Amino acid sequence: MNIPSLTIGRVREGLGKKEFSARELAEEALRHAAEENPKTNAYLHFSPERALAAAARVDEKLARGEDPGPLAGVPVAVKDVIVTRGVKTTCGSRLLAEYVPPYDATAVIRLEQAGGIIIGKTNCDEFAMGSSNENSAFGPVRNPVDPERVPGGSSGGSAAAVAQGTAVVALGSDTGGSVRQPASFCGVVGVTPTYGRVSRYGLVAFASSLDHIGPFSRTVRDSAVLLRAIAGRDPLDSTSAAAPVPDYAGLMDGGVKGLRVGVPREYLKDLASETAGLIERGIEALRGQGCEIKEISLPSTDYSVACYYIIATAEASSNLARYDGVRYTGRSANSETLSEMYRNSRGEGFGLECKRRIMLGTYVLSHGYYDAYYLKAQKVRALIARDFAAAFEQVDAIVGPVSPFPAFKLGEKIDDPLEMYLSDIYTLTGSLAGIPCMSVPCGRTAQGLPVGMQIMTNHFDEGRMFRLAAAVEGGVPPVTPGAAQPLP
Ligand code: GLN
Repeated sequence: MNIPSLTIGRVREGLGKKEFSARELAEEALRHAAEENPKTNAYLHFSPERALAAAARVDEKLARGEDPGPLAGVPVAVKDVIVTRGVKTTCGSRLLAEYVPPYDATAVIRLEQAGGIIIGKTNCDEFAMGSSNENSAFGPVRNPVDPERVPGGSSGGSAAAVAQGTAVVALGSDTGGSVRQPASFCGVVGVTPTYGRVSRYGLVAFASSLDHIGPFSRTVRDSAVLLRAIAGRDPLDSTSAAAPVPDYAGLMDGGVKGLRVGVPREYLKDLASETAGLIERGIEALRGQGCEIKEISLPSTDYSVACYYIIATAEASSNLARYDGVRYTGRSANSETLSEMYRNSRGEGFGLECKRRIMLGTYVLSHGYYDAYYLKAQKVRALIARDFAAAFEQVDAIVGPVSPFPAFKLGEKIDDPLEMYLSDIYTLTGSLAGIPCMSVPCGRTAQGLPVGMQIMTNHFDEGRMFRLAAAVEGGVPPVTPGAAQPLP
């Protein structure tokens, strides 16, 4: 059983032909992941009991001749900001180092109902705040393509696990790019569905109006299958959408001939040459398959970083208020009074980036600055959404880069938060507009570093996004797990 070579389809075939049982596969996946993990630190903890129980249910169903579900037997890694009953969920924070949730996220329940096997929880930036996975209280994750480099963030562990081949698919969370950017850096597929497409129940809140759960995989088809399994209305999340969930994998086929694809001029104007070259190649691959390529404009792009870092920090400052040393978290041992206890628990528990954001968010919401910052940012958010609405009058999809540069070195940007924030410039607009966006590998630099192309479509039009991604995937050389491969 070669775990890194598996896809959802291959697992299905192996189970069907009785080459292995779900239990054997789960045991081998757990062993392989534990053995490989020291190379990347992608997993914070494994969940063998839960995995073997889920595998036993799949084997029982198979023995009874029942359909074990679209993810039957598939080893899945889950970002540690998504709660799992009985399995530690730390959010990459010292504050929650010992937190064991009493309930499951809806996405986790649906994943297991579909037959998926959760083998472990993945490392991430603390409370999903970061672009490099260096903000985790449990050490950074290394990029499997080049261990001196970051895997991207904040879902760096999930991206690394899939790229390294220790999980077939993974769940991450994306607030401003945290699925797409690490997918791009690690050379895998990463999907941010329409806001509300996947229930946020059980996703620990960072910025509630922007938070999404999204899949990682090595093939476009696997993300399509995983998204279908977890998507759909959930009465436990009032912002989850009632729109029916189509068969995304079924919609992938059929080609892209005649699709109108927009390339925003704001996305390519300052782009470093090697990344730009690879994106151009991806665009050419689409043109070659019959897409009509048009230049478009998203004029508010320049404001996206400022707008996002006001809204996201404002919401974060409120969401993180619940970690008070009384509920969920560890409590400081050195306090005499109640206010000292709050102050010390939070002061000792939160890392630097979380503190920076709580302060920034509190500031932009404070009396006297609310109108100048928070309210203004909300207006800019409406303009960004309007840019996309206007663009989708002219085109069916928009493509461009995910990140201005490929994976950077560990430590390279950690002391310069503004530089780090700028790495999100192309992912933030789609998040602010709530549209579906994804990263699909579109080649590697001369140094062998993966570059992802971003594909965006209108709300709930994930089907067309997957179809274009499949065309890019087929049109440029594929990426094999783990190994650096310079382009021919
Ligand atoms: N890198 C962005 C940030 O630090 C996005 C994070 C995310 O999507 N969770 O906020």
